[in-house]
Amino acid sequence: MMLLDTHSHSRVSFDGRDSRRELALSALDAGLDLLCVTDHYDVVNERSELVPAYDWAPARREHAEAIRALPAGAPLRLLYGLELGNAPACFDAAAAALAEEGLDFVIGSMHNASARLGWVDWYYVDYHENKALALRHLEDYFDSLTALIEWGNYDTLGHLAYPLRYMRDRDGLDLRLSDFRERYVEILRRNAERGRAVEVNTNRGRDTLTDYRDLLLDWKALGGEHVTVGADAHWAEDLGKGIREALDLIKACGFEYVTYYEKRKPVCVRVD
Ligand SMILES: [Zn+2]
Ligand SMILES: [Zn+2]
Repeated sequence: MMLLDTHSHSRVSFDGRDSRRELALSALDAGLDLLCVTDHYDVVNERSELVPAYDWAPARREHAEAIRALPAGAPLRLLYGLELGNAPACFDAAAAALAEEGLDFVIGSMHNASARLGWVDWYYVDYHENKALALRHLEDYFDSLTALIEWGNYDTLGHLAYPLRYMRDRDGLDLRLSDFRERYVEILRRNAERGRAVEVNTNRGRDTLTDYRDLLLDWKALGGEHVTVGADAHWAEDLGKGIREALDLIKACGFEYVTYYEKRKPVCVRVD
C-alpha cells in the first residue's frame, strides 16, 4: 500500500519547527512514498488579525532546498501545498495566494470563528463546562464551511472535526461530530457537487478517527469520491503517524482509492 501524507507543516508555519529539508529526509527514513508540505496561510491569523497577503518566498526557498537534499532516485515524491485557513474572512486575499506557480495542493481549513464572533482562534478559547459556547462556535463553524464551499477554491476540506480537538479532547465536553450530522451532511453534499475531497486528519496519530468513520460513511453514501489523508505533523518525527490506520479506515468505509493532488489535479491511488 502506498504510504502518503498530504498534510504537514515546516518552520515556515508559525507553529512548525523543522525545515522542509528535515521533513523530506525524515519522510524518506520513515518509508513514506509521498509527502506534501502544507504550511499555513491563515487569512485571519492566531491573533485574530486579517493577513491580507501571503509571502511565498520562504516556502519557495525551503521547497527548493528540500528537493536538492533528497538523494538522486530517492523513492519519495515531495509536493508543494498550502493549508489555506479562514478563507471566508477575505476571499480576494485567499484567491491571490493561490496564484503561486507550481502549487500542487490546497487544503481548505477553518481555525478561527467568523467576524461576528471576533475571529477568535478556537485554540485560545476555554470550553471547560461551557457547552453553550461550544455549540455557538460550532454553528458558526458550519456556516463558515458552507461559505468556503460556495467559494470552492480548495482541493480538500481539511480536518472537519478540528474544533473538537479543543472542545472535547482538551476541554472535556461530551461532543461528537455525528451530533451535528444534519449540518455536516449538507456540507458534504455541496462538497461532493463541487467534486472536492474530504480529509482524514490523524492529528499526529492522536485522533481515534471515530468522527472520521461517521464522516466517511456519509461521504460514501452521498457519492463522495475523493478522500485525502494527513498526519498534520508540525515536527518531523510526527510525519505519517496514524496514516496506516487512516488508510485501513478509508478502505473499511468502502473506498477503493485515496487521493493526492498534483498541480491541483486529483491522482487516485488504490488502497489495498
Ligand atoms: Zn489546520
Ligand atoms: Zn495543519
